[in-house]
Formats: sequence, C-alpha cells, structure tokens
Amino acid sequence: MEWQARWARGLKYKVSHKNQMFVERFVVDLLAGICSCKFWRLCEMSCPHACCAIFDKGDNAEDYCNDFYSPAAYLATYELVVAAVANGDNVVGLNGAAAATDDKVAINTAIAALLCYFDILL
Ligand SMILES: [Zn+2]
Repeated sequence: MEWQARWARGLKYKVSHKNQMFVERFVVDLLAGICSCKFWRLCEMSCPHACCAIFDKGDNAEDYCNDFYSPAAYLATYELVVAAVANGDNVVGLNGAAAATDDKVAINTAIAALLCYFDILL
C-alpha cells in the first residue's frame, strides 16, 4: 500500500500513505477544501492527500485549487509593469523619463498593495 483513499461519508475521505517505516493517516473533506495536514487550507492548493481522494472520486485536482493559481489570474497579476522608484516624488518611467500620471497612479496603487500585503504578514 502506497497511497489509499477510503470514502468515509459525503465528500470526506480517509487517506493513508505508507512510508518506509510507518503509515500516515489524514482526513480529507473535499467539500470544505481541508485536509488534516493543513497544507490545503494554508496554500489553497490541494495537497497530495487531497489529490489521492480527488483521484479516487474521479475528479480533476485542478478543479479544487483556488482560482488565483489559474493562468488568467497569473496574467492579470503581471499585466502591469511596475517601474523602479527612487522615492515617492521622483517617479521614473521605464524609458528614464518622468512617468506619466497614469504610471504614477499605477505605481502608487502597487506600492499601497505591497504595504497592505506586508501589514498582513507582520
Ligand atoms: Zn493533506
């Protein structure tokens, strides 16, 4: 036995994984999107235990990942180019000239988003 998914009830599965020395057991809830290993909830990406249950059910693992892992979300994330900023008053565009107002708004928005992101982390 390497990996084994056993249906529990509803969309819950018991997944067993045998290592060389011992057997690890996890509980996967496909409806709630959680696994007892906590990886799925943390990363919004199905863990190997969840994938084992998903494959046992006959579903596609990609359907259980958060939409921010999709190609469309990736392209939307990187569609704006953020230029280097020396300081808030001297915004320089990619060509070295002073950035246009739209560029400054985009850069300020990106900086605000980064500050919010770090504020969440700290
Ligand atoms: Zn897991």
